[in-house]
Amino acid sequence: MQTLTNRSKMVSNKKMTFMERIYLPAIFKGMSITLKHFFKKKATISYPEQIREFSKVYRGRHVLKRDEEGRERCTACGLCAVACPAEAITMIAAERKPGEEHLYREEKYAEVYEINMLRCIFCGDCEEACPKEAIFLTDRIVKSDYERLPFVYGKSLLVEPVDPNLRIDISGRQTENVLQFKQNKRFAHNR
Ligand code: SF4
Ligand code: SF4
Repeated sequence: MQTLTNRSKMVSNKKMTFMERIYLPAIFKGMSITLKHFFKKKATISYPEQIREFSKVYRGRHVLKRDEEGRERCTACGLCAVACPAEAITMIAAERKPGEEHLYREEKYAEVYEINMLRCIFCGDCEEACPKEAIFLTDRIVKSDYERLPFVYGKSLLVEPVDPNLRIDISGRQTENVLQFKQNKRFAHNR
């Protein structure tokens, strides 16, 4: 019969030999493969008891940074939301009131800032687009859940703590090349 592709195989109906019928050689062959893997270094770990160290430039859950004085850096310009290919970021901007200078660095700030982690593809475009060094991806992971709502992260989960000892270190992401890129006025979002 004419075959449709060249991947078809002819099945042999020849009688099995004595060695094939007792299956022992096949069993020993399988066992030898198992034994070989038994002494190899394991590719898996016992998470969550063991935690794998992530790369410094791992793109995990986001942080909204504060400046040296503890003020929120985000000015609700919306560039991160525009850059986001997954449309995962939403925000509502508000004007800073007199007396709030210690809370927000800029005259405008994000009253509401949300990232839908179910939509996010952790591409890092929001981080690249931000002109205020306000949003960064980190080596922390998004926790699993059975519901959808907890995956919408608001400011309470995104903004880093005021306490300098609890700040999220993103210095590993700020390589020389990244800093140069962010200062390059050729890119519209750096102007
Ligand atoms: S990492 Fe990418 S997908 Fe996720 S919020 Fe930022 S821009 Fe959007
Ligand atoms: S781009 Fe930066 S400053 Fe602008 S809204 Fe996003 S996080 Fe805030």
